[in-house]
Amino acid sequence: MNKETIAIHHGYEKDTQGTTAVPIYQTTAYAFQSAKQASDRFTLQDLGNIYTRLTNPTTAVLEARLAQLEGGASALATSSGQAAIFYAISNLIEAGDNIIISDKIYGGSVTLFKHTLKRFGLEARVFNLDDPSTIESLVDDKTKAIFFESLSNPQIVVADIDAISAVAKKHGIISICDNTVATPYLVNPIAHGTDIVVHSCSKYISGQGLALGGAIIDRDGLLEFFKDNPRYSHFFTPDESYHGLVYTDLPFPPFNLRIRLALLRDIGATPSPFNSWSLIQSLETLSLRIEKHSHNTLKVAKFLESHPKVSNLNYPGLETNKYNNLSKKYFKDGLCSGLLSFEVANKDTAWKILDNTKLFSIVVNIGDSKSIITHPSSTTHQQIPLDEQAKIGISQGLIRLSIGLEDADDLIEDLKLALNA
Ligand SMILES: *Cc1c(COP(=O)(O)O)cnc(C)c1O
Repeated sequence: MNKETIAIHHGYEKDTQGTTAVPIYQTTAYAFQSAKQASDRFTLQDLGNIYTRLTNPTTAVLEARLAQLEGGASALATSSGQAAIFYAISNLIEAGDNIIISDKIYGGSVTLFKHTLKRFGLEARVFNLDDPSTIESLVDDKTKAIFFESLSNPQIVVADIDAISAVAKKHGIISICDNTVATPYLVNPIAHGTDIVVHSCSKYISGQGLALGGAIIDRDGLLEFFKDNPRYSHFFTPDESYHGLVYTDLPFPPFNLRIRLALLRDIGATPSPFNSWSLIQSLETLSLRIEKHSHNTLKVAKFLESHPKVSNLNYPGLETNKYNNLSKKYFKDGLCSGLLSFEVANKDTAWKILDNTKLFSIVVNIGDSKSIITHPSSTTHQQIPLDEQAKIGISQGLIRLSIGLEDADDLIEDLKLALNA
């Protein structure tokens, strides 16, 4: 099936009422038919529902669709993108381990790895996304993951997914790609050798800024990968917290299985059934929206590129962009989604533009149908010191736009007035 069809039909059999829309199973718990069934559910003899912290029938439809759209073995939905990233990493590490991260990733991921998880004994080693050959020198026995974004937010840089995945494969390390901005419609990292894909569903998948959500998708074949892989002995040795269960002995994709049985059990961060339902509605139109976001953004980028107050316009869809070839290689029809950034003289000029736009809202979200303007240095990346911001390409004059689904000419007119104000 093609993605447009998967997004609308996959994973839902009409219920006994013939309901065409996926119902919202707004319930915390599930009644068992007998004491024996209850017990069997806990021993995994029977895989039915126990409690919504672990599984929910509405969320299961969202998970089935996301797994299929990414070409993965299974998906696990979480309450936010950050929860998905936290689970994906903490499923692999213990104190004393390290992970290798791209230098161009979301601000919340930077603080998660470099500060919050540091206190739990994790070291984050940074590689230059423009040069994946630098990864290898950072690898040692304690390296448990290589983490990057396919299309980075806010730098809008395209990753060489094949090259990064190849280094991970060579050393038997799990690679994790945050595919939030590119979306499963433009690229499937798993098809390029990545092991795990994570999403913030709060952005393009929601599409109207209506619901927070996250997802983790694992690839086929990880059972073989984890069996006897000394980096990840917790997958093939007994888990004391689950009566000595050995994840690689079960016939399920082990990565998400362990997150569901151990991490969701212990930490929660499960989506509400209502948010899962909302994301199911949004997913139906993802392909249409991403095409329109991409075409609109290219038009706005072409306008801004020629404006005298604008420098360093960054949109990989432009022929002049350093990442244009990579975007043509990896993204469907060379479409580049809805994020662009550019620089103006300084912070004051940037703030003036933000305050003078009328159609653009000053918001730190992205991927909404409504266009958004952001000053990353003073908002999304404020917790990162200025000198470190500069190193990762965030200058004080940097403005990020998330181009919505309005008419592109109206957006251009609005920006023209704001830039000349
Ligand atoms: C927003 C975002 C996240 C975090 O997602 P939330 O749903 O807001 O928790 C992670 N990665 C990227 C690339 C994002 O843009």
